Parts: sequence; C-alpha cells; structure tokens
Amino acid sequence: YLSIKGLAKSFDENHVLKNVDVDVQKGEVVSIIGPSGSGKTTLLRCFNGLELPDKGKYTFDDGLTLDFGQRLDKKDLVKLSRKSGMVFQSYNLFPHKTALENVMEGPLIVQKRKKPEVIEEAKILLEKVGLKDKLNFYPHQLSGGQQQRVGIARALALKPELMLFDEPTSALDPELIGEVLSVMKDLAKENWTMIIVTHEIQFASEVSNKVLFMDGGYIVEQGTPDEVLKAPKEERTKRFLQRIL
Ligand code: ATP
Repeated sequence: YLSIKGLAKSFDENHVLKNVDVDVQKGEVVSIIGPSGSGKTTLLRCFNGLELPDKGKYTFDDGLTLDFGQRLDKKDLVKLSRKSGMVFQSYNLFPHKTALENVMEGPLIVQKRKKPEVIEEAKILLEKVGLKDKLNFYPHQLSGGQQQRVGIARALALKPELMLFDEPTSALDPELIGEVLSVMKDLAKENWTMIIVTHEIQFASEVSNKVLFMDGGYIVEQGTPDEVLKAPKEERTKRFLQRIL
C-alpha cells in the first residue's frame, strides 16, 4: 500500500527520525513500540503530514508519490492527509458538540457531503463502537473510554484508507482500556490498514501483523510479533522488553 524510504525529521538540533524505511501492506496492522522519546509519535504523524519530514520518499500503490527532499505540490499534501484517519491520545473531540455531531463534522465540513446520509452513517458508526445509546451525549458526559470510541468513529467517518492510532489508551483508567482495544481488534478483523503507537505489548502481539521497535530515531528491529516480541535479535529490543514486561 505504501513504501517510505529514507525518512528523516529534526526539530532544530534534535534529530528525531534519522533514516527510517517502512513498508505497509494493505490490510496490515503495524504496531510501533519503543522507549519514550524514541520518535514513535513523530513517525506516526509523518504518515499523514501532521509533521512534515525533512527528507523521505513516499510511494503509494495508487501512484501518489511525495519526495520531501524536493519541493512539494500542496495538492499532494492534501491528498496525503486525506488518506488517513487519526485517533489521538487525548481524544480531541469538540467539547460543545454531541457524539453524533463530532462524528458528522468531517464528512459534512471536509467532504461536504449531504446531511441525511451523513447522519445515518454516523449513527451506524457509533453503534459499531458500542455507543448507540449515547448519540446525543456531550464529551463531558462520557467516560474516557467512551470518548475515545467516539474518536475512533469520527476517524472512520472519513472512510480513510489508513487508520493511525497515537497511544489511544494511554490516557485511560485501566478498567476502560479493554473496551477501546476491543473496538480496535474488530477493525483489525475487518482488514482495516492500521498503524498503532502503543505501550500495550500484549495487545500489539495479538493484533499486529508487524511490530516495529524504535529507539533513538531508528527502527532498530521489525518483524512479526513472534520475531520481535518473543525472540528479539537486537540487544536494545531485548533490554526494552525486559524493562516493561
Ligand atoms: P512517547 O512514548 O513519550 O510519546 P515518542 O517515542 O512518541 O515518545 P516523540 O513524541 O516522537 O517520541 O518525540 C521524539 C522527540 O521529538 C522528543 O525528544 C520530543 O521532545 C521531540 N519533539 C516531538 N515533537 C516536537 C515538536 N513539535 N517540537 C519540538 N520537538 C518535538
């Protein structure tokens, strides 16, 4: 689906991504793990252009290519951003809009679609994430887990090719994590292409086709969950897993 070669990103003198190559297949679930500050979130945000790489060549299987080493066409950046839906750690819902209105916002405003069909689809999506009876609730009337499930429905509403998750459960109380992971497992079963930054190693091992271990701005090791999580080859991966498991 997408191949990225030679991705680099700095914030001033801080070289956060150094020379990253990633391939994502259609329908694949890719988990990104690694220590704090290793560049996981920055890499995720590079997938949709929320962070603009300094260097790197993106090739999508539909022919879209972006070379961040060269001058870029603004239109191509818009195309890049429209390919993904993003789920944030802190939900980022509109506080003055109901669950239903939050889910409708993108299709109505960004895609300029007609209201009746957008309402119907938004209801179906909220039902899918288990919030059928909360359509008219405002974010402050919902638990963190419920808000995050609205966040997932909102990202799905744009019918993206790729779903990006930035530590979607790390702001949640432990008892609310399961309900969000369960929705994500359902999406994985439906063959959504997903990239997930997570600290939930057990979850990553259950849902992923591929695990990337990052450290110091590099992908140190990548492979199947069994390869990376059960039989890591690299010393840094072993040490990280020992620390957190
Ligand atoms: P965590 O697990 O703690 O979220 P991470 O692996 O996701 O960490 P990033 O959030 O990608 O790491 O951050 C990597 C480095 O980039 C950090 O040193 C951080 O301070 C820096 N950084 C990230 N975003 C910015 C920004 N917008 N401006 C300046 N520095 C940034």
